[in-house]
Amino acid sequence: MKIAVLGSTGSVGSQTLEVIRAFPDEFEVIALSANQQIDRLLEQIQIFHPKVVTIGSQTLADELRLRIGAPLPKILVGLKGLCEMASMPEVELVVTSVVGMIGLQPTLKAIQAGKTIALANKETLVTAGKLVMNEAKKYNAKIIPIDSEHSAIYQALASGRHEEIERLILTASGGPFRGKTVDELARVTLQEALKHPNWSMGKKITIDSATLMNKGLEVIEAFWLFDVPIDRISVLVHPQSIVHSMVEYCDGNILAQLGPSDMRLPIQYALSLPKRLTTPWPRLDFLMNASLTFEELDHETFPCFDLCLKAIRQGGTFPTVLNAANEMAVHAFLQEEIRFIEIPMIITEVMEEHESLNEMELRDILAADHWARATAKQIIERG
Ligand code: MG
Repeated sequence: MKIAVLGSTGSVGSQTLEVIRAFPDEFEVIALSANQQIDRLLEQIQIFHPKVVTIGSQTLADELRLRIGAPLPKILVGLKGLCEMASMPEVELVVTSVVGMIGLQPTLKAIQAGKTIALANKETLVTAGKLVMNEAKKYNAKIIPIDSEHSAIYQALASGRHEEIERLILTASGGPFRGKTVDELARVTLQEALKHPNWSMGKKITIDSATLMNKGLEVIEAFWLFDVPIDRISVLVHPQSIVHSMVEYCDGNILAQLGPSDMRLPIQYALSLPKRLTTPWPRLDFLMNASLTFEELDHETFPCFDLCLKAIRQGGTFPTVLNAANEMAVHAFLQEEIRFIEIPMIITEVMEEHESLNEMELRDILAADHWARATAKQIIERG
């Protein structure tokens, strides 16, 4: 399988390369990309010898050219470069592991070129789910989720037919602030928010996990991927992160997928489908995880989750705006410009000011995204 990895220096991207390296007879890297992390990209180029690489700016591209020894890969720049590498003729599978809305256009290009997509970038489906799924149908492109919950559901769905699905049950770890009160959340720090109890992930998704925005985005992602109505997708907090998600069928049987909290497993599954490869990584030890518990999600303390449900129910460009406002708010929180509890406040305000567009072409989505970012920026700067 010939693979392009969009965002290869991030958390999922790096773990994708670990999977590829573990199965050299199965997978071959054709193209890699990084936004800023040039040192890491250089290391990856020396190991994987891609034919094409994309980097965030022309300045970094010039530096890269000087620092790479022969043979020199083709060097592309920015969003245009990502779009070109995602649709290269010899690429069969595109892993989209960039963070945020920047993943949308390269993913669309890959779909239009008929590639198989291993999707780690949930913002793509949140921001433009209808467009992306319509294009995938039109160009007969397969979308395989890398997100652990959706990988679990994808696997459990092999046990029944679509019309037999009663509901999808996504599990949530609850994040680092599970059990805290609204008052306690007002005082949490950036360092505390960045300490996820189970998963090691990039900064943006770690903050999304702390606000539970991540789980709301995943409900929207599941809605588009599996074509199941929103009120048939439920969430259960499961602090051990062993049951990755479940499918309940009309006959009352529930299929769950379990495994260690290790992103390399869902990545490996997405790359190797339809076969399964013998994993070199640690397996789940039930006796080390003797108790699996489940509890209800705290909607009051974590309003971001309900904001996601509201956005997808309102439809139109509301999910686009929700996602853009969240990206801006999380960025501001990572810069310590706002407090943790201001993240949902900013998103709420941006959504309240939004007048949804009915058209859902790419240009409408980009316009709504642009508007939401500018509006969120004003709110953040106003303080
Ligand atoms: Mg997930």
